[in-house]
Amino acid sequence: MKLILLGAPGAGKGTVAKLLTEIDGSVQISTGDILRAAVAAGTELGKKAEAAMKAGDLVSDDLIMGIMEERLKEDDCKSGYLLDGFPRTIPQAEALKGLLDKMGEQLDTVVNIDVPREVILDRLTTRRTCTDCGAIYNVKSNPPQVEGICDACGGNVVQRDDETEEAIGNRLDVYNEKTAPLADFYEKEGMLLTVSATSSDDVISAIKNKLGM
Ligand code: ADP
Ligand code: ZN
Repeated sequence: MKLILLGAPGAGKGTVAKLLTEIDGSVQISTGDILRAAVAAGTELGKKAEAAMKAGDLVSDDLIMGIMEERLKEDDCKSGYLLDGFPRTIPQAEALKGLLDKMGEQLDTVVNIDVPREVILDRLTTRRTCTDCGAIYNVKSNPPQVEGICDACGGNVVQRDDETEEAIGNRLDVYNEKTAPLADFYEKEGMLLTVSATSSDDVISAIKNKLGM
């Protein structure tokens, strides 16, 4: 399947994307994971993105479109992709539309995962992430078996740099201002599926239902 997953930080896009990859072999493409890997590796891209990410601001549309044009051409995308954290601005959505047209591809649907703000805030402050494989944990509801160590890959499980209270507040403001308007954009394109659910299993069921799976 070819999907966009929209939703505020902490809405569960990454978790849902990981579950969906197991259903039909589609790949998860997370611009946040790509950028964090670039920062960790100290590449040119990482150097350009680091300051904005740490503050919870968006990285420039040009940089993101450069990454995505390359990424969507890779072979593994032939079995489908789940776009997690992209597009995040109207210019990115417009540019993606042009890119897909050029590639002769069509998305199945755009899923907007709608979760109440209190739930989001609680999740983001308790969220921990594996720096190696991106697996997501929660100190309260889903801690790794050994504190600080990833169950899946043995990597380090840490709190992200942009998950301080200040950066979280900024990320939510940026989301409301720049990304929330994408729901209207895709509604007008006739592609929007809004799911109000805090359980990833319920989100998955709604998607399967919509795609007739
Ligand atoms: P979130 O949990 O906020 O959804 P992500 O892992 O998707 O986090 O993104 C982390 C950070 O990476 C963002 O706050 C932003 O700085 C940058 N980023 C990721 N995707 C994009 C994008 N499509 N456009 C601009 N910046 C992005
Ligand atoms: Zn891991």
